[in-house]
Amino acid sequence: SRRDPEQREFLQAVEEVLMCLEPVLAKKPEYASVIERMCEPERLIVFRVPWIDDAGNVQINRGFRVQFNSAIGPFKGGLRFHPSVNVSIIKFLGFEQCFKNALTTLPMGGGKGGSDFDPDGKSDNEGGSDFDPDGKSDNEVMRFCQSFMLELARHIGPQTDVPAGDIGVGAREIGYLYGMYKRVQNEFTGTLTGKAIEWGGSNIRPEATGYGAVYFGLEILKEQNDTIKGKRCMVSGSGNVAQYAAKKLIELGAVVLTMSDSTGYVYEPNGFTEAQIDQIMEIKNKTRTTLAAYKSETGQYVAGERCWNAPCNADIALPCATQNEVEYEDAVKLVSKGVKLVLEGANMPTTNDGINFLHSKGCVLAPAKACNAGGVAVSGLEMAQNATMTTWSPEDVDDRLKSIMVDIHAAASAAAKEYGVPLQAGANIAGFEKIARAMIAQGCV
Ligand code: NDP
Repeated sequence: SRRDPEQREFLQAVEEVLMCLEPVLAKKPEYASVIERMCEPERLIVFRVPWIDDAGNVQINRGFRVQFNSAIGPFKGGLRFHPSVNVSIIKFLGFEQCFKNALTTLPMGGGKGGSDFDPDGKSDNEGGSDFDPDGKSDNEVMRFCQSFMLELARHIGPQTDVPAGDIGVGAREIGYLYGMYKRVQNEFTGTLTGKAIEWGGSNIRPEATGYGAVYFGLEILKEQNDTIKGKRCMVSGSGNVAQYAAKKLIELGAVVLTMSDSTGYVYEPNGFTEAQIDQIMEIKNKTRTTLAAYKSETGQYVAGERCWNAPCNADIALPCATQNEVEYEDAVKLVSKGVKLVLEGANMPTTNDGINFLHSKGCVLAPAKACNAGGVAVSGLEMAQNATMTTWSPEDVDDRLKSIMVDIHAAASAAAKEYGVPLQAGANIAGFEKIARAMIAQGCV
C-alpha cells in the first residue's frame, strides 16, 4: 500500500491473500522471503491505442498488459475490454491469476491485460459527430482490436505470454486480435486461447468457466453428502460465465432463478428453462442489447437493481458478473434468503467484509481462484492441443475439465484441513505454496 495507495482493487486482492497466509508463515517461515516479490509484477506494460471510428475521427484508448509471475510457466491470463479498466483492475486480476493458474495443475504463470475500450458501448464523445446510439460497429471493434494487437504482439508469444478473453472480449474480439497477431508475427501458433474451433480453438472452451464452477460446487456438495438436484440458485451476470453456469445447473436438475446484466436483473420464479437461457444468449451474444429485451410470460425484468434483491429464497448464489458485486449488505441478504453456498464465477465478486460475514454464518464460499479456474484450465488444454497439432473431442476435454476441478477442490480442501481454515483460505494457501516453492528454487530473480 506504500507503493500504490490508490490501487483499491489491487490492494483488496492482496489483502485477501495475505490474511490467509499467517498460519503458513508460522509453520514455514522460509516462505516470507518471496511474499513481497510476489506482490510486485515482473513487468507492467501501458500503451496508447489509437483507432479511427466510423465517422473518421481518431479515438484514443489505453492498453495494458501485466506480466505478473512466470515462476511456474509462461504468463497466462485474459484481456478485459471495459470502460472501468485501469492499472488497479488489471493488477488485481493479474495477481489473482497467478494463484488460480497454480491451482490448475498446469504449467502456467499469471498475467492479465485489457483496455478501457467498451466494445458494446457508445463512442466516447456522446452527442458529438461520432455518436452512435447502437454502440460500436463491428468495423470499429475490429480497428480497435487491430491497433491494440499491433503493440501487444511484441510482448507475447506461445512460450512467453498467452492472452485469452474476459469481460468484453469474446469470440469476435479474439478473432480480430488473432488475425492481426498472425499477420504481424507471420506465424500460426497458440499465442491466444479462446480461438474458434476451426482455427485452433479447443472444444468446451466457451463452456469451461461456467461448467467448471458448477463441477466445483458438486465436489463441495459431495463432501456434505448432498447433491445439486432441486437446489435453488441465484446467478448474476448474463455473459459467458453466467450463461454456461446456468445451462449446466439446469442440465443437472437445479433451479436457476435469476440472471442479470449491468442494467438490472430477470427473475423467473419457477426457474429458467433451457429455451429461456437461449433467449438470453441471443440477446447478449447476437443482438448485443440489454436484458430489458427479455420476453417471458412467467418472469419479470427489474431495472437498476442487483439480482440479490429478487423476492425469493435460495440455496446457492453464483456471482458471475464482475468484482465487488456481493458487498456486505448483499451477503446479509443472501444469508437471510437461506443461501449456504456461494460459488464465485466472477473474479473477486465478494468484498472482504462480505467474505467474513458469510463465513461467520457458516456459509461455504468457493473462491474465484479455485471455482472459476476451469476457463484458464481449458485454455491450458488449448495450448497443449496447439503445441501437438491435435484437437480433442468435446467429451475428452469435458472429462479433463471435470478431473481438474476435482483436483483443485482436493488441493484447496486439503490445505484448509491442514491449517484449520475455510476452503477460501485453503485455495489461497495451496496456490501460494506452489509458486513460493518455485520462486525459492529459482533464486532471487
Ligand atoms: P462477459 O463480458 O461475457 O459478461 C459479463 C457480464 O457481467 C455481463 O452480463 C455484464 O453486463 C456484467 N457486468 C460486467 N461489468 C459489470 C458491472 N460493472 N456491473 C454490473 N454488471 C456487469 O464476461 P465473462 O462472463 O467472461 O466474465 C464474467 C466474470 O467472470 C468476470 O469477473 C471475469 O473476470 C470472470 N472470469 C471469466 C472467465 C472466462 O473464461 N470468460 C474465466 C475466469 C473468470 P453487460 O452485458 O450489461 O455489460
